[in-house]
Amino acid sequence: MSPVWKLRVSKIQERSVAAPEEKSNSIENMDWAQLKAKVAGCTDCKLRAGCTQTVFGVGDEKAEWLLVGEAPGAEEDRLGEPFVGQAGKLLDHMLHSIGLQRGRNVYIANVLKCRPPGNRNPEPDEVAKCSPHLLRQVALIQPRLIIAMGRFAAQTLLGTDATIASLRGRVHRYAGVPLVVTYHPAYLLRNLPDKAKAWADLVFARKSLQQP
Ligand code: URA
Repeated sequence: MSPVWKLRVSKIQERSVAAPEEKSNSIENMDWAQLKAKVAGCTDCKLRAGCTQTVFGVGDEKAEWLLVGEAPGAEEDRLGEPFVGQAGKLLDHMLHSIGLQRGRNVYIANVLKCRPPGNRNPEPDEVAKCSPHLLRQVALIQPRLIIAMGRFAAQTLLGTDATIASLRGRVHRYAGVPLVVTYHPAYLLRNLPDKAKAWADLVFARKSLQQP
């Protein structure tokens, strides 16, 4: 993430800090039901006006594994669930290859809960407004490991503009939770040889969970 971009996100976040009287309604105090209702009714940024529905996230709310992508695409926007298009099918296969399954000890979410028009890149103000939702999901799930899928999720969660290649193979942290970076399944659909690297990332992630 470029320094200018980072500064813009943090300025917007500063302006969104709740006044004391709003504290009890603030996202960081919400339970699952409140958070789901907040996201479903969210109009905090301009994206909601242009999408069909919000896409909250799916899976085991006590999962050890939290997988995070960028934002809903067309199919996700239509069905209200993350990673249900072609990229999602590949993701399901990848999970299966390491003995995992969507919904079983796995939770899947995106940085943004609304589809950007035409699948354009998310903008800084949209990320700043939506990030607290993901942060609260992390706090409620308390996963043992986060997998950031793709450049956008990795750079946003880690606050860096480093490449995926340079971030892979190490354990980072987001909100105190160990985080491993891998390629986005949609990228892998276009770059099939890198599937082996993504599989290696998941094996690395699984091993890191087995460390005492
Ligand atoms: N790409 C993403 O990053 N998330 C989805 O839910 C679907 C495609």
